[in-house]
Amino acid sequence: MSEQLVALFQNIGLAEQKAKETAKNKNLAPTLEKAIHSAGYDSKPAEKSTGALVYALASTITPTALPHLDYLAKAIRDSRLTTSDQVSAAIKFVQDKKEIDEAKFNEECGVGVVVTKEEVNSAVDAYTETVKDRLVKDRYKFFGLFFAGAKNIPSLKWANGGDIKEAVDAKMLAVLGPKDERDVVVKKKKEAKVEAKEEKKVETSATEVKVADMFFEGELSKLHVPGGNPQIKPELMVEHLKATGGKYVTRFPPEPNGFLHIGHAKAININFGLARAHNGICNLRYDDTNPEAEEERYFTSILEIVKWLGFTPSEVTYSSTHFQRLYELAIELIKKDKAYVCHCTGEQIQMHRGGPERGPRTACEHRDRPISESLELFEKMKSGGFEEGQAILRMKMDLENGNPQFWDLVAYRVLKTPHHRTGSEWIIYPTYDYTHCLVDSFENITHSLCTVEFMQSRASYYWLCDALEVYKPVQWEYGRLNVANTILSKRKIAELVNKKHVFDWDDPRLYTLPAIRRRGVPPQAINNFVATLGVTKSDTVIEVSKLDAFIRDYLNETAPRLMGVFNPIKVTIENLPEDHVEMLTVQNKPRDPSMGEHSIPFTRQVWIDGSDFREQDDKDFFRLAPGKTVGLLNVPCPITCTKVIKDESGKVVELIARYEDAAGFKKPKTYIQWVAESPKHNSPVRLDEVRLFDRLFHHANPQDKKEVPGGYLSDVNADSLSIEKGALVEIGLWDIMDRWAKSSETKTDYEAMRFQLTRIGYFCVDKEADLGDFKEKPNASIKDTVKKIILNRTVSLQVNSSLKNQA
Ligand code: ATP
Ligand code: MG
Repeated sequence: MSEQLVALFQNIGLAEQKAKETAKNKNLAPTLEKAIHSAGYDSKPAEKSTGALVYALASTITPTALPHLDYLAKAIRDSRLTTSDQVSAAIKFVQDKKEIDEAKFNEECGVGVVVTKEEVNSAVDAYTETVKDRLVKDRYKFFGLFFAGAKNIPSLKWANGGDIKEAVDAKMLAVLGPKDERDVVVKKKKEAKVEAKEEKKVETSATEVKVADMFFEGELSKLHVPGGNPQIKPELMVEHLKATGGKYVTRFPPEPNGFLHIGHAKAININFGLARAHNGICNLRYDDTNPEAEEERYFTSILEIVKWLGFTPSEVTYSSTHFQRLYELAIELIKKDKAYVCHCTGEQIQMHRGGPERGPRTACEHRDRPISESLELFEKMKSGGFEEGQAILRMKMDLENGNPQFWDLVAYRVLKTPHHRTGSEWIIYPTYDYTHCLVDSFENITHSLCTVEFMQSRASYYWLCDALEVYKPVQWEYGRLNVANTILSKRKIAELVNKKHVFDWDDPRLYTLPAIRRRGVPPQAINNFVATLGVTKSDTVIEVSKLDAFIRDYLNETAPRLMGVFNPIKVTIENLPEDHVEMLTVQNKPRDPSMGEHSIPFTRQVWIDGSDFREQDDKDFFRLAPGKTVGLLNVPCPITCTKVIKDESGKVVELIARYEDAAGFKKPKTYIQWVAESPKHNSPVRLDEVRLFDRLFHHANPQDKKEVPGGYLSDVNADSLSIEKGALVEIGLWDIMDRWAKSSETKTDYEAMRFQLTRIGYFCVDKEADLGDFKEKPNASIKDTVKKIILNRTVSLQVNSSLKNQA
């Protein structure tokens, strides 16, 4: 990467890091470089807003508009194009044109049109009158549609989006007054009950994120309003609107060939969220066109995870449902002379596409075969006349085009593998390139949102819809969300599972969504996290530690607190009577009465953690040591260690202590956690296992060959799992479990039993715990049925606080 190029990119206002990344981007860098030269910002830096337009131009220009890059860049330089809407309109206008008619260009792109704030306000005023009834009736829930409608006002075509939003906000406030209880979004009853407490906390917490805002700001706010996307034949739009009623329709289209990962959480949030923000609908579509990789458990898990994240698909659909219709359209495509059967091997296709030297592209001998012959051969493919690899159907696109997505993509291949849903009915299967856009079209998708690696596919997506004259959705790309320090690739995770480096796909050390869920991470924390990152076109790489910090903040606000000790030492408080029992009321979260409270016994015998006692005292050590005094959390008075009892080997087995309840005893410096021995209260709760997880890989980028020459498998941290046995927890755990048993719908989501173990970390119950037959005994407490308790540590506490002043 040249430093000159990086400096050049900084001239248009890119931050150094971004400039470096861009310089490495083989697709974008040359175009951006040319645009900057044309606009003349190689010798002087651009104004920030102008620079951003040059960047927008280079990153969104389509192959057919590319010959006019110079013209467009100059139009930005000359302030003829001053907004990103204008730049998009300009790109669209120059596409496929030999010459640019300047007057027409100016008109199409709103050159010189200035829409003042006053004009925006008065247009919004007038528009409000036409929808006032609905506005008054639906109040703030109408915002999405109201705003979308305002942006669609013809006279505001070239107005600033921010000005429109401002006018809409002001108008709503004027008509409706501030938000009140009528504007609280009502959740479904059951969900509301379970989440009421948590939600309330989150609203007031520092981690609060207004998820819906991201759909009305930045890039996403510029998406077209349904009905606004041009079609090859106008009647296609009429039919589309009839089918959808003008609603936003999106879809989340996973390939059911593995479990979802953290990146998919972004895709889910964007697709379901955009629809929700505009009162539209979103389908879950299994893109199941590759019979070789699909398994039932993936289908089930994907739906479960979507629901877990809080989204309900309007419909669950399958690409395979449309195999017949897709096949019929393929025949139509051949008849239009826009597809042909080809017998080239993969290698031959590569050579025809210019080979590794990227030489000139050539048509293969099959490209010009008669339509009738292709029809016959396609029929032969379908009926078993060809083996795999002997024949494919290719779209007849445009070999001259600079975009590889035009080089006669494959539409169908022979695959003699039975399909999960259609069995052995088909032995030809459509490809992603052929299927995706058509199924989007069948489902009347308004916004087909996908990740940036599909940028170049946008043109072929449109090509196919237009070639077949079917309704054409709009494709829009956003940046991928990736996580450093881990591996998300399905193939590589499979390897980790097969080689037993992890228990399974949902091992809490992984970043698949089932794994994250099992580790105890609340779904709202994931959604908020995604919303905080926002939606742009650039890929994001986040460090695992950043995600952990976010989860920790979220749990800090929402998780009840319990006391527990991992390495128990018995403490006998000699001056309390044998049968001493004092029930203490403890807040579920200190200083937060809204989280409720529970009670625990305090008795003559308690357990403290081994790490809170030292035989050799030290002046910097403020916990328990011979002769030293320490506070017990939530207990009125402190204790002083009077004697240490050891076994023959010299190991400390018990401490004798004195309860300091004399008036005026001074407040101790430190408080430690403890649990009481009290069989009649089922105290303490004895845990079978606590699983502590650490990084699965030693290096930041385990897949980087330079960083880890031996490959990611060699980088697995053998100590990434440690299991603690014999830990004790206070009986508040039963309250948490019983509350969960009452509210959980499925009674299988053990990970929803979440809490903080004071001074240790955040934990949840693992699915391998055995809670016994509690489902059959709805009136019993889990303490009476439980057989085995296993906890997972979700995240540790960041600071090992000494808990000063906590009691
Ligand atoms: P992978 O290759 O990582 O397994 P994929 O792209 O094959 O993922 P799909 O099941 O095809 O996974 O993805 C379904 C949807 O999720 C697609 O729209 C895809 O663009 C999106 N998606 C996949 N990975 C990410 C990611 N890391 N960040 C954001 N969106 C993603
Ligand atoms: Mg994929």
